[in-house]
Amino acid sequence: MPIANLGQGKFCIFCGEKPQLKNKEHIIPQWLIKKTGDLNREFNFGINFSNISKGLELEKFKFSFNKFHFPSCKVCNDYYGTFLEEPAKYTMDKIFNHESISFSEITSLLTWFDKIRTGLWLAFLYLNKKDLCDFYPHFFISSSIGLNDRMLAVYRLSGHPKGITILGTSTISFMYYPFCFGIVINDLLFIQASYPGLLSKNMGFPYPGQAEFVFSNNPDGTLHTPWGTMDAVQELRMGIEKVKLPLLRTKLTNSGIEFYQTVINKKLCIEEEYSTEYVKSNSICLNDNLYSKIWANSKKTSNFLDEDINVIDHLTKIYPYHKIRNLFEIDILRIQNVLIDNSPFVKNLPKEIRRQMHSEQVLSRNSNNIIMKFIREECV
Ligand SMILES: [Zn+2]
Repeated sequence: MPIANLGQGKFCIFCGEKPQLKNKEHIIPQWLIKKTGDLNREFNFGINFSNISKGLELEKFKFSFNKFHFPSCKVCNDYYGTFLEEPAKYTMDKIFNHESISFSEITSLLTWFDKIRTGLWLAFLYLNKKDLCDFYPHFFISSSIGLNDRMLAVYRLSGHPKGITILGTSTISFMYYPFCFGIVINDLLFIQASYPGLLSKNMGFPYPGQAEFVFSNNPDGTLHTPWGTMDAVQELRMGIEKVKLPLLRTKLTNSGIEFYQTVINKKLCIEEEYSTEYVKSNSICLNDNLYSKIWANSKKTSNFLDEDINVIDHLTKIYPYHKIRNLFEIDILRIQNVLIDNSPFVKNLPKEIRRQMHSEQVLSRNSNNIIMKFIREECV
């Protein structure tokens, strides 16, 4: 992993290296800003930590959408522009035009949402890097997208003006565990979550047992700390070969359509646990990784998709945005807590690391619980 900590200067948000032939990547792509209004309109994002340390009022950063960009290498920017942005724009246009989308379009869209979510997290860190100079980003866009199990839920709204609203990224838990967020785009709300091994067991695929962090010599290890690099190791178990609902281990409050996909890393695909008829008939090999078929869940279906699907046709309920925004935020925070609870064991690590990781988990979970309680009381 290229960067030691945030205090060491500019890094490319895709590869984490010092940006080569400097370029700027819009975290919210320009095609999406145009689709939702004026390129130069302002929006609020994240929390300004400097204000907290100076004892000033809690304040969000204010940006023009068109200036919400962060350093990247030219080659990284060009590659992901072609590989991700163009297909995502095409698929989003189809969704908004009430057209059907295919397996490969949904798969690519899920990866695009991985990119937006990871980009928002890195932007949050970048903006606060003076106050978080000891913070270690342990992954970047290129090392995190399309690699882990993921979920995307879509809901139809009324009363949200044309535009973009981002949900669930201004929390302490998102800083430590940036694995679930929401984004409203005009009249559709998307909630996306991704985490290693999140869905494989309940989707009937071989699944990892409880993971454990160990120190590693692997320079691309999964977690970087001031004490060294760590990898999560886990034992692979045979799949139950049937789907067990709810796939996410928590039921979502509102009714839209949910897409679920488990992703099997190419290194694991060769294991004998994956050579079963169930795995073969419910997965597809793409870019050397194995991707499960998409499981779709709505009032109209609960199945692996075998044909194209019209997303809007499944959004039979329309939610009044201003009345129900809080309930969606609670769902996002609840999912964030499920992912925190899914973190690897740390019992074999030195006490100092265990203590730090434990305190990050407790702080993240408790702060989410406090926000949820506050929202519920406000809703009464
Ligand atoms: Zn780069």
